[in-house]
Amino acid sequence: MGKKQKELVSRRDFLKKGAAAGAGVAALTGLGFKEAKASEAKFDRVADVVVVGAGVSGLAAAVHARDNGASVIVVDSNFDIGGHGMLSGGRVILGGGTSLQKKFNIQDSADKIFLDHTRPGSRVDRYNDRNIVRAFADNNVATFEFLLENGVKFPDKAPDVSGGAAPRLQIAVVAPGGLTVTINGRNGSGVVRPLEASARKKGVEFLLLHKLTGIVREEPTSGRTLGITVTNQGNTLNIQANKGVIIATGGHTGNVEFRRMFDPRLTEEYQQAGEPYTLQNAEGEQAALAIGASLGDTANQTNEGGLAITKTVHIGCRGGYQNLKWNPKSPVFQRAGASGLTVEDWQDLIMVNQLGVRFWNELDGSYDFYAACLGSVVLDGGKTRLGGPIWAIFDADAVKREYWVPNPPNVDLNGYFFAADTIEELAAKINNPYQKRPMPPSALKETVAKYNSYVDAGSDPDFKRPTPKYKIQTPPFYAAWSTPILHDTLAGLRVNAKYQVIDRHFQVIPGLYATGESASGFAMHGLAKCLVSGYIAGAEAAQEASVARPLAMSVGFGNSNGRSLLSSNKPDSIRKLG
Ligand SMILES: Cc1cc2nc3c(=O)[nH]c(=O)nc-3n(C[C@H](O)[C@H](O)[C@H](O)COP(=O)(O)OP(=O)(O)OC[C@H]3O[C@@H](n4cnc5c(N)ncnc54)[C@H](O)[C@@H]3O)c2cc1C
Repeated sequence: MGKKQKELVSRRDFLKKGAAAGAGVAALTGLGFKEAKASEAKFDRVADVVVVGAGVSGLAAAVHARDNGASVIVVDSNFDIGGHGMLSGGRVILGGGTSLQKKFNIQDSADKIFLDHTRPGSRVDRYNDRNIVRAFADNNVATFEFLLENGVKFPDKAPDVSGGAAPRLQIAVVAPGGLTVTINGRNGSGVVRPLEASARKKGVEFLLLHKLTGIVREEPTSGRTLGITVTNQGNTLNIQANKGVIIATGGHTGNVEFRRMFDPRLTEEYQQAGEPYTLQNAEGEQAALAIGASLGDTANQTNEGGLAITKTVHIGCRGGYQNLKWNPKSPVFQRAGASGLTVEDWQDLIMVNQLGVRFWNELDGSYDFYAACLGSVVLDGGKTRLGGPIWAIFDADAVKREYWVPNPPNVDLNGYFFAADTIEELAAKINNPYQKRPMPPSALKETVAKYNSYVDAGSDPDFKRPTPKYKIQTPPFYAAWSTPILHDTLAGLRVNAKYQVIDRHFQVIPGLYATGESASGFAMHGLAKCLVSGYIAGAEAAQEASVARPLAMSVGFGNSNGRSLLSSNKPDSIRKLG
């Protein structure tokens, strides 16, 4: 027997015999990890199922794994629970014959859902993996009833239409308790907090401020998934998963280089809906790729069908995603910086690129508008093409028409909002880390003068904006950040219909799952897809055969400094802004 084979056998032997064979891990791999010697690697904690990410998909997975008899640890890098779901509108699109649909005599079925999400005529649906949509359709009713059983409340009224063959939209009731509970007062808190409460009651343990840094697998890119490695305030902790690890880290829109694998135009200036509460930095994806996982259904990210990119509606702040206006009393408002000026009528402004030039009809919100935002800047006589910041330009009359108050906390004076008495002064003031070239004052002056002449003429020959209405002529003049915002991750780790992760040889990685926006296969926006995937993966992982159960006893709890890292399950001690 060769040396390598011997090593392999002894590692397998260890796995079979558990702690008796030695307190070690065969291989530590993943983000930032090299293979570790068995003697060096120890598991500090153990659970049957380890969920990475406490967003809605991770919460559903954790609760359902617990319902199926597994012990569960959930880790999250944030200071609190909920991920993007907490900031969401709580608009849950589940149907197929739910109790609420039945109560209001709405006819629906799993097959109708399946057909809705595989429509060849729809860009969002046509690229979906039909096996995954089938699983989604078949688990809609069960997931909806699961939400009710775990305390999520929907108003007692008929579900609304949502674009499918039957009304399936219901909006969760906001969680009681104010902004320290809801973070920004959104209905999504009504999905998150009940699931969190139920998870805690059922014995799920949460380790907050614990960030995934690697996945532990039997061999670097083969064999069973054994657990994860996390960091917590400078300490490293290895957590064993007897049955499965579920990656629910929410996707990749916040990772510039990762998202540029799908769309090279998405350089660093494009912010992300859901920031700054939680980040979607592809850390789960990268850790899984490092142990041999593959990406799937990548067309979904770039087919210009789903909600991958959106218009800024609250301008003059860094994060002005249309459905998320930051409340100044939110515990994370300082990170958000400002809540923005909400645009009611796009006729009140023009948009210019970083060179001070208009580039498209501002009233448009189509993918052509985004394409123009992402590529209208031509430099060096045609040698370079860029996107860059987009600025809304308007005057004091627009401020009056919109009833705006152009001061903090509505606007962010740290690079996202500028005012001046002349257009040229305004251009000269614009200064922002993403503004690669100074805006030429003469260019902005010329742009505004030309636009004003289009108002006089009643037509916009450059971009066909319908009947330009208002001149920009009354000081002070303003420039407000209105660069597009990235929203959903629509492609991720390749999974099958059980949400098991598939490797680059097209085989299942034993014991590894991915859900929500971290998973591939299905371009549907939002909560329903994430909840159903978590629901499925939680049960599947809980039903896996168990590996080395005695390990936890032999290794004990604690980090390498000997300090206990047993998480407190008390909300007060963990909900501190990190
Ligand atoms: C403003 C807004 C409004 C929305 N409104 C709706 C709506 O009304 N209806 C709808 O259907 N959808 C809506 N959505 C979309 C929906 O909220 C998301 O698609 C969904 O919540 C994503 O869930 P997830 O579990 O996949 O990921 P996330 O919610 O992103 O959760 C991922 C979690 O993983 C954690 N994490 C990330 N990296 C690590 C790491 N390395 N280690 C440990 N933890 C990590 C994060 O902190 C986070 O808590 C909205 C989204 C936003 C931003």
